[in-house]
Amino acid sequence: MRVPSTTTIINRALDLRGDAQRQHDTATINGIDTLIKNLYRGAKAKWAIDGALLVTSVNTLGAVYVVTEHTCDCPAYAPCWHLRLRALLLDLFQTECDTADMHAA
Ligand SMILES: [Zn+2]
Repeated sequence: MRVPSTTTIINRALDLRGDAQRQHDTATINGIDTLIKNLYRGAKAKWAIDGALLVTSVNTLGAVYVVTEHTCDCPAYAPCWHLRLRALLLDLFQTECDTADMHAA
């Protein structure tokens, strides 16, 4: 699975932020703001063979966090923005597959 461009990720995050805003879901809005801020600060993500997402730290030079479906080994309190990023990337990947199916049909 490839990771889409930062712009694509941020656009989807802004969509989700809009939904959360309509539902007055402050926790989700704050989580998405953290995600966007860290992407702008240069955090990079890539998939490992085993389906874990590897995310570079923007605070600790050289650190890479391993994010699986429910866990992340960063020092932040769960749920951290890495888990949110992983869910968002899977969501984007699914959308891409659905679109490809439509074109194939
Ligand atoms: Zn984390």
